[in-house]
Amino acid sequence: MTTLTCTRRLEFDAAHRLMQHEGKCKNLHGHRYVVEASFSADTLDSVGRVIDFGVIRERLGAWLDDNWDHTTILYEKDRALGAAISDKTGQTIFYLPENPSAENMALYLLNTVCPKLFSDTGLACTSLRLYETPNCFVDVTASLSGSAA
Ligand SMILES: [Zn+2]
Repeated sequence: MTTLTCTRRLEFDAAHRLMQHEGKCKNLHGHRYVVEASFSADTLDSVGRVIDFGVIRERLGAWLDDNWDHTTILYEKDRALGAAISDKTGQTIFYLPENPSAENMALYLLNTVCPKLFSDTGLACTSLRLYETPNCFVDVTASLSGSAA
């Protein structure tokens, strides 16, 4: 059996900080994040695609634009900082259920965001790479058992 994988690269800018980090990542700071979202299938559609690249951009790209681009992403236990930022800037804070490490952000996209965005396509985002810097990235891959968190 042959598996075909289609990957779309998307970028966004955001601030975050890691609570309990031993070093400077505990400070509020920003990144130019890069997401590479991959969809896999054993067969192609009638046009010859796994999924249209534009559909990934329209759905996941729009979600990133609306929810994470030019925002501050904080752990939901970090609400005191979030409230202070909101008070001073009027900015909306995106609270993640876990500390916003690249790992947890990638897991959130793979397991929480993408299943909602692509449910009608019959396809799942099967793996996702998130770059926090040009040299540092994480990979998350969907479990074949279907026991997504
Ligand atoms: Zn960082």
